[in-house]
Amino acid sequence: MARRTVKKQLPLDQPFVVRKSRIAGKGAFANRTIKKGERLIEYLGERLTHAQSDARYDDHAGGAHHTFLFNANPSTVIDAYVGGNDARFINHSCAPNCESEIERGRVFVDAIKQIRKGDELFYDYAYGRDGTETPEDETGLYGCCCGSRNCRGSILEEVTKAKKARLEVGARRRADQEERAAARAAYTAKAKKKSKSKTKKNTTKTKKRR
Ligand SMILES: [Zn+2]
Repeated sequence: MARRTVKKQLPLDQPFVVRKSRIAGKGAFANRTIKKGERLIEYLGERLTHAQSDARYDDHAGGAHHTFLFNANPSTVIDAYVGGNDARFINHSCAPNCESEIERGRVFVDAIKQIRKGDELFYDYAYGRDGTETPEDETGLYGCCCGSRNCRGSILEEVTKAKKARLEVGARRRADQEERAAARAAYTAKAKKKSKSKTKKNTTKTKKRR
């Protein structure tokens, strides 16, 4: 198999250790000074399609999002719960010192500032939104407790103006589809009733949809 080239090389020795974190469960801590821009680790795990990952984990049914999943590209999700390495222990922060870098479907974690020995490593998870998130999800299921001064309270991606507009269009489209489906259902029900008794007036109120 041809070796795919990536921009930066991985270090020979992993520059961090995994131990208990005050933020959440386990965390990754620098075991030496890390320079800004250094590549730290590749995020490994089983590669799944989105459908496979959805089948494996249901966020809402489980009551907790699965923090070991990483969206590598529109067709691939990396599940670090299966065959994952220490990259899965790097916690989220709204004021991170690392970032995730996706190159040719592979995911790496790079330092974006100098990190002192002993400091915990973080990157912004910025979970993708699809417009179905409720305000409760925002701080409940996807709540953030990073404690940084500019904590946005959620590990969901920050909503830019453009993204907000796109989400609104999507939500509107879904509402329109629902409305049309409801109208169709009401029409069919009415037609059925009409054919049953032509003289009886239909007094049933149609529930107004959003
Ligand atoms: Zn935060």
